[in-house]
Amino acid sequence: MADVLKKVPVREQDPQVRATNFDEVCLGYNKEEAMEEASRCLNCKKAKCVEGCPVSINIPGFIHQVKEGNFEEAYKVISESSALPAICGRVCPQESQCEGKCIRGIKGEAVSIGKLERFTADWARENGIKPTPAAEKNGKKVAVIGSGPSGLTCAGDLAKLGYDVTIFEALHEAGGVLVYGIPEFRLPKLDVVAKEVENVKSLGVKIETNVIIGRSITIDELMDEEGFEAVFIGSGAGLPMFMGIPGETAKGVFSANEYLTRNNLMKAFREDYDTPIVKGKKVAVVGGGNVAMDAARTALRLGAEVHIVYRRSEAELPARAEEVHHAKEEGVIFDLLTNPTEILVNEDDAVAGMKCVRMELGEPDASGRRRPVVIPGSEFVLDVDTVIMSLGTSPNPLISSTTIGLDTNKRKCIIADEETGKTSKDGVYAGGDAVTGAATVILAMGAGKAAAKGIHEFLSNK
Ligand SMILES: Cc1cc2nc3c(=O)[nH]c(=O)nc-3n(C[C@H](O)[C@H](O)[C@H](O)COP(=O)(O)OP(=O)(O)OC[C@H]3O[C@@H](n4cnc5c(N)ncnc54)[C@H](O)[C@@H]3O)c2cc1C
Repeated sequence: MADVLKKVPVREQDPQVRATNFDEVCLGYNKEEAMEEASRCLNCKKAKCVEGCPVSINIPGFIHQVKEGNFEEAYKVISESSALPAICGRVCPQESQCEGKCIRGIKGEAVSIGKLERFTADWARENGIKPTPAAEKNGKKVAVIGSGPSGLTCAGDLAKLGYDVTIFEALHEAGGVLVYGIPEFRLPKLDVVAKEVENVKSLGVKIETNVIIGRSITIDELMDEEGFEAVFIGSGAGLPMFMGIPGETAKGVFSANEYLTRNNLMKAFREDYDTPIVKGKKVAVVGGGNVAMDAARTALRLGAEVHIVYRRSEAELPARAEEVHHAKEEGVIFDLLTNPTEILVNEDDAVAGMKCVRMELGEPDASGRRRPVVIPGSEFVLDVDTVIMSLGTSPNPLISSTTIGLDTNKRKCIIADEETGKTSKDGVYAGGDAVTGAATVILAMGAGKAAAKGIHEFLSNK
């Protein structure tokens, strides 16, 4: 008899095997495992898990259908609220959202809501089930900028309401961070991301790639000359930050975004692609977030010895516990309480090591976390030939600087109403990382959903 206090374990690739390939780490539940895990759900009347979900999926509703083996019904329940369930089931931080609120979690382990969502979405895809398109079109044109999770969600919801929606995407492939940032071994591109993008298209959404709004065409031109009655900006936060230390412009220093884009979108890891990437022998990744873990695990798979260099301790690592655990299992070395001060450069202007200092934790700072303080005399050189900076990102100011009357804050984030996505410019809405700064897939989706509602209300009253 299975222990109801514990999750049904999920199968994963062996750490030593997966450290050498780019195949998906987590193998997900099969039917029997999913039904067994679903039977752990207490089907609470006042479901706290739903309160923890930024797009308010009817979680007990879909889990009940999984328990009964009605997987198509389960998918229908999820797709009432989410256009990207196979993605969210893989990358959402469930432990701090739905699963963090699960009553089962008080005495034992929360129900594995993420893995059940993933199972349901994968089953639907493998069985050719699609979301239902709108019955009638209303002929009103809406432009969506960016094909990340906020843009895809906003576009999908508006298409379901009958709008004629076009997404304009700067890159040659749709998906935003889902295709260029999150690695293949966490989120398969062809089998999962491309299929969920297809689902959004099947609702009637058009996607025009290779269009940079602010350069190819502006928002004002879309509205004044191209007949778009409203615009949603979901352009993300793709501009990387650097430390400002000496040596940062040397060959072999990358932003995590560039490193990951070369690998994920431009497939540098595949022999049949020409994309150049430095296959460092010893790589330092500076930072402790999810992006740092992704860059570290990617460098490891490209054959390097990899060090995460982070200035606070393990308790403060901002990455998900699961990502840290996976990185450690695969052999990433954690240099905690360590801060770089200079990148050493050789006569070829290439990285020849990284000077660091050891840190200790002092009094809490404004964020409530203990402030790292340098230990005097602790300087040392970390022997590395490649440095990947993963210190966060901010929105690219191209759109805000080319749109008349669009207000931003001092971090260059577009100012938008949380409930409706409304910006300072009439008819223009925004959401996701472009508004909040780097956040999460599901928060971007929640913002896309809210803006779709806001736009519908605006256009219905126009
Ligand atoms: C490496 C990495 C790993 C992550 N891992 C996770 C995770 O595990 N779980 C999680 O929840 N979140 C994760 N995140 C964060 C999450 O991916 C983002 O919060 C989310 O993708 C934001 O969605 P968005 O729609 O706002 O923007 P994005 O996904 O950034 O999409 C914006 C899109 O707009 C396009 N664009 C930008 N400017 C223009 C323009 N001028 N014209 C036309 N198109 C434009 C971009 O090319 C891009 O495709 C990760 C982020 C990164 C970088």
